[in-house]
Amino acid sequence: MADSPYNWTEVTVVGAGPIGIELAAALKQSGIPYRHLEAGPVGQTFTWWPHNTTFFSTPERIAIAGVPIQTVQQQNLTGEAYLVYLRQVIQYYQLKIQLYEPVEQLEPVPGGFRLRTRSHGGEQVYYSRKVVLATGGMAGPNRLDIPGEDLPHVSHYFRDPHDYFQQRLLVVGGRNSAIEAALRCWRAGAEVALSYRRPDIQRERVKPALRDDFDTVVREGRMTFLPATAPVEITPRHAVLAQVQDGQVDAGRLTHYPADFVLLMTGYTADMRLFAQAGVQLVGAGQAPQHDPASMETNVPGLYVAGTAAGGTQKQFTIFIETAHADVARIMTALCGQQWQGSYFAGGANRPKPNPYE
Ligand SMILES: Cc1cc2nc3c(=O)[nH]c(=O)nc-3n(C[C@H](O)[C@H](O)[C@H](O)COP(=O)(O)OP(=O)(O)OC[C@H]3O[C@@H](n4cnc5c(N)ncnc54)[C@H](O)[C@@H]3O)c2cc1C
Repeated sequence: MADSPYNWTEVTVVGAGPIGIELAAALKQSGIPYRHLEAGPVGQTFTWWPHNTTFFSTPERIAIAGVPIQTVQQQNLTGEAYLVYLRQVIQYYQLKIQLYEPVEQLEPVPGGFRLRTRSHGGEQVYYSRKVVLATGGMAGPNRLDIPGEDLPHVSHYFRDPHDYFQQRLLVVGGRNSAIEAALRCWRAGAEVALSYRRPDIQRERVKPALRDDFDTVVREGRMTFLPATAPVEITPRHAVLAQVQDGQVDAGRLTHYPADFVLLMTGYTADMRLFAQAGVQLVGAGQAPQHDPASMETNVPGLYVAGTAAGGTQKQFTIFIETAHADVARIMTALCGQQWQGSYFAGGANRPKPNPYE
């Protein structure tokens, strides 16, 4: 393990999602020495999106570092297309990212922070005067903690509708991801049922087009909707569904629903361990890191948060790419000690100037 006092750098950015990359481009352009560490490949969060899933956000809102996004049909990007774009931004700015090197430990030391990483090559130790955690808010699934959740035909990740062709699929959830998965799999030839613990899907949070499509398909009897139900156990052949009344699971009213596959689209949780290790106060049920919204500096001096990590586990998404661009300008201003004069603008060619980070 290398633990050398010469491993100091000025700033370390942890996470190479869109916001970490946008910040790295700003640091590079400003000539501030930095190190960039990423646990997996670039844009890891987008690598597990279902194939051919499109953004809700329009292209100009997810463009980063002043590099516009053009598409053939002027439509929203898929996750795959966005990964291509992120690679282009990195190549364009010649950003150096240490990939597949997760930070496992972060602790304040005199003059800065010590970071311990583990990669294929073993453990490494780095020192940094400032650290920015751009580690995202979707590190793992929101588990139900029910028996059978880890059986091989049960998954928290929807990858491809093709997998469920001519199979009985039970989808659990009532928001966009669950409804989109259910509809796509039904169209791909699966026999689909959707179980949701509330009496209805979350209409106010579901995209209108998806909602209408879902209503039509259910009304026509092509897909089964099982409202006010929740799985309490999954067996190799069934999901055991309990009735839910006033938010309470009634374990006395159980149905054995046959299913070849079960998709638990029950959301994702953030991993806030690095914040906690470093002494950041985590607030509320979502464990959002305490920080100054003007500078994004946490209650630990020198430690900053950027992007969706600032919301911890978000119940309702208020922090996403387009609302997080401004973090870059705020952090750069704090690091430079004066209003950052970067020329980026978040929205591509058609966004008003000057800098809308303000
Ligand atoms: C199906 C789906 C659709 C979505 N649609 C939209 C949309 O339309 N618009 C939108 O803005 N957002 C959308 N999102 C959310 C989007 O994924 C996030 O807004 C975006 O990824 C946030 O960017 P980020 O850079 O803050 O974090 P992330 O992209 O999550 O990046 C965080 C990075 O940090 C890395 N990391 C974490 N821990 C460590 C560690 N210890 N050491 C090193 N690296 C670490 C991760 O590997 C990851 O690459 C959607 C999400 C899903 C699942």
